[in-house]
Amino acid sequence: MIIHHVPWLVTKLFPAYTWHKDRDHQHIYLTFDDGPVPGITDKVLELLDVYNYKATFFMVGHNVFKYPSLCKEVLAAGHQIGNHTYHHLNGNSCSKETYLADFNACQEIILETLGINTSCFRPPYGRINADQAKEISKSHEIVMWDVLSGDYNNKLPVERIIKKTIQYTRNGSIIIFHDQQKTAHRLPYILPDVLKYISNEDFLPVCL
Ligand SMILES: [Zn+2]
Repeated sequence: MIIHHVPWLVTKLFPAYTWHKDRDHQHIYLTFDDGPVPGITDKVLELLDVYNYKATFFMVGHNVFKYPSLCKEVLAAGHQIGNHTYHHLNGNSCSKETYLADFNACQEIILETLGINTSCFRPPYGRINADQAKEISKSHEIVMWDVLSGDYNNKLPVERIIKKTIQYTRNGSIIIFHDQQKTAHRLPYILPDVLKYISNEDFLPVCL
């Protein structure tokens, strides 16, 4: 069972994190985690380009290192880049020192590759402890989500992912997708329908 919509209580328990944005405007926030990965990130760029929608890509440092040109393509297309640690670490299973070193390594490779100092961070798996968060929030907005597409879950039918994503999207929603190997064969079927809905409903996807 997957919870596609983050319960209100969770967002109240962790008010220091960004769960959604302003509900008063018809803006929404498409986010793509774990890339850049050839064969899927480029496909996502193509699909977003159809509507000229902008999104935020939370990149894994090691992928930025492996695929610098793809990384540059994302930036050149006008999208926002965020830090997602260098090795996709789970904050709950490593020390503050290890976590911060990995966070800094990702920050560094993005700066080296793209010349930008991003101020957006998303913890892999949404897992980060209070100590780690306290440090990172001094320089970065810690961005979670309120709509979990579930695109990485192979047991979920594509139709259900599309239906649930659409159902929970409202003003200010931050929607999470993944541009990585696990979703490479599914996202190209999910994203067009979601984007079409967004367009029909006159939501405007923008950067965070
Ligand atoms: Zn991730």
